Amino acid sequence: MYAITFKEFYDSLLEGKLIGMRCLDCGAYTCPPKAVCDECGSKNLEKTLMSGRGRITTFTTTYIAPMGYDKEVPYTVAMVELEEGPWIVGRLEIENADEIGQELLGEEVEVFGKEFPTEMFYPDKKRRVVPIFRLLRKF
Ligand SMILES: [Zn+2]
Repeated sequence: MYAITFKEFYDSLLEGKLIGMRCLDCGAYTCPPKAVCDECGSKNLEKTLMSGRGRITTFTTTYIAPMGYDKEVPYTVAMVELEEGPWIVGRLEIENADEIGQELLGEEVEVFGKEFPTEMFYPDKKRRVVPIFRLLRKF
């Protein structure tokens, strides 16, 4: 049993709130939801509201999409280290990532959720909510 469900996680993201889990044994944060603490493996977790802010650790821009994603290119996928420690993957809200390049590393972002059309290879999946990162500094 998860301390928070993925439904709850995505519903909150769409409201602009990032929720995660705090470990009652070691104090570490886990996000997105998992069955156990990322740090110590404990199941003694509580739901917590995260700051929703972090820094870009890496990113890549896709120009030629896999089948089914062609309407979404170009898009930039980034990995962000949250203020509380966990790393999450999402899309970076940016038009010209290729022109900016490495300067984006370490840039501060805030996260919210956006609903996308469902994926053709996952017909049973009813919805698709993706974490979106918004840069706090304008480029
Ligand atoms: Zn722990």
